[in-house]
Amino acid sequence: MSVDPCVSGPREVVAALDVGGTTIKAAIVGVGGRFQHRRVLRTPVTEGPDAVVAAVLGEVRALIAHAEGSGSSSVCGIGLVVPGSVDAAAGVARFAANIGWRNVALGALVEKETGIPCSVEHDVRAAGIAEAALGRVAGVDDAILAVIGTGLAAVLWSAGRQVSGASRLAGELGHLPVWPDGEPCPCGQRGCLERYASAGAIVRRYEQATGRHTTGEAIVALAEHEGAARDVWRDAITALSIGLASCTMLLDPALIVLGGGLSSAGERLRAAVSNALATRVVWRDPPPVEISPLGAGAGLLGAAILAADAAGVPGLVASGSR
Ligand SMILES: [Zn+2]
Repeated sequence: MSVDPCVSGPREVVAALDVGGTTIKAAIVGVGGRFQHRRVLRTPVTEGPDAVVAAVLGEVRALIAHAEGSGSSSVCGIGLVVPGSVDAAAGVARFAANIGWRNVALGALVEKETGIPCSVEHDVRAAGIAEAALGRVAGVDDAILAVIGTGLAAVLWSAGRQVSGASRLAGELGHLPVWPDGEPCPCGQRGCLERYASAGAIVRRYEQATGRHTTGEAIVALAEHEGAARDVWRDAITALSIGLASCTMLLDPALIVLGGGLSSAGERLRAAVSNALATRVVWRDPPPVEISPLGAGAGLLGAAILAADAAGVPGLVASGSR
């Protein structure tokens, strides 16, 4: 990339965007990971993949204008995190099923438009970068972050390093088979964890059982006194505990952190997963289970860290990121 890095200074900020199939989260982030401006807009997926690219470029321009409009800041780096298959080195979104992107050179498009260095990364890997730099995994060498949102995926650390795998496909926790001959998954397999335990699955399975549509967090609360919600929640926790028990046997983590949108269920989620895991991991101590302090904002914070890296000022947002 032929963009000059900026020089670190107290007024430099970064622009961060977390582009999902439902919403685009956007923020201006300053020193120490402090959010100075933040907003959420709907992703225009129904208007086609080009409209989503246009919305991203429009929001990047709006963030830059907002920072400069205050008269005291300038954007020195941009971080974009997206779902699906991402070639981070090339800055290309290879494939994002729920947005319709195929081989979109987002990094080059943004840099051409703005003249500011831009980093592109997978949303869950970015959440892992933030969790390791500023969240609960900071200083923990062996850990699992399970990001439970519309989908379900994990970031794995072993001996202090994020495990990426031969094809950068490590951490696809959502497609771990946990139910023999279970529900078919759009991935082509059957009985995938994501079909039972993602927030999307909890909402879908509750709606199938009752005809009512509500949020995953609401269903978790309803499970204390309503049979249909209790059945859906029990299946989710059973599936999640089977998946995390398998991960525990493979990786021997010191800690399991639960993040993503469903982590807003807080202690209800943590206690249910921790108790279920303790019934499955019996010959050794199960690892402690905690809720991510960064929650659903981890991807956006990861985008900010990557933006600072792209700008050549890696300590701007988080020192010691890995
Ligand atoms: Zn699957």
